[in-house]
Amino acid sequence: MMKEVVMRTLNRVLLKLSGEALAKNGSYNEEEIRRIAGQVKARYDQGVQICIVIGGGNIWRGRTGVEIDRPKSDSIGMLATVMNCIYVSEHFRYAGMKTAVLTPFVCGNFTELFSKDLAMEYLKQKKVLFFAGGTGHPYFTTDTLMSLRAIEMEVDMILAAKSIDGVYDKDPEKYPDAVRFDTISIDEVVEKQLGVIDLFASCLLQEHRIPMRIFSLYEEDSIAKSLTDEFNGTEVTI
Ligand code: UDP
Repeated sequence: MMKEVVMRTLNRVLLKLSGEALAKNGSYNEEEIRRIAGQVKARYDQGVQICIVIGGGNIWRGRTGVEIDRPKSDSIGMLATVMNCIYVSEHFRYAGMKTAVLTPFVCGNFTELFSKDLAMEYLKQKKVLFFAGGTGHPYFTTDTLMSLRAIEMEVDMILAAKSIDGVYDKDPEKYPDAVRFDTISIDEVVEKQLGVIDLFASCLLQEHRIPMRIFSLYEEDSIAKSLTDEFNGTEVTI
């Protein structure tokens, strides 16, 4: 397969935020969310089309070992992502962006049902799109949704804002000598099963050749910088 080495123009991106990154002391970290909204607004004003996937880990993680059926537990996790998306989208609206929250299942009038046609139409209308509710299926993660929607929406790049500042050869929390990659190919991520995103999500990106930048959400202006040469993190090439 031919490797793409030339940097694509970043007209349409998908930003992934983990749920935990939004949390502080068991509640929403409003300051952090306002900071995120400000950074996204700067790119929005430049005409970049923005899709967002948010996790739900601040509210719920698929539980095992307790007396709750896994699909039920995962339903709670998916609903948690709906709450997160509604909450964060309101901050975005307050910051001056048009928004839409799209789910793969009906959620009354809280959200709208996802379809590619509708999502594409909304991007043309300059709306920031929040893909909430996960894939709508248990046993998946919001990383899987990130890959699926990135492919379907034909984004130029995924921007994955994490609590860690890139991809390492081993877990830096356990191994102080862990080395961060400046760039790494998606083939290598899959081959070495580097767990920075889940394996199924990586395999989808490998098959559909979507590049990704992984960086720390907590570094100042990291989201804004992730669209420029000042990007600091790991570039996952295709
Ligand atoms: N989830 C699911 N299917 C999906 C996406 C999410 O069942 O397509 C559930 C799963 O239980 C997961 C939880 O929602 O643990 C929260 O998502 P995730 O762990 O990806 O959130 P993050 O860790 O990124 O905050």
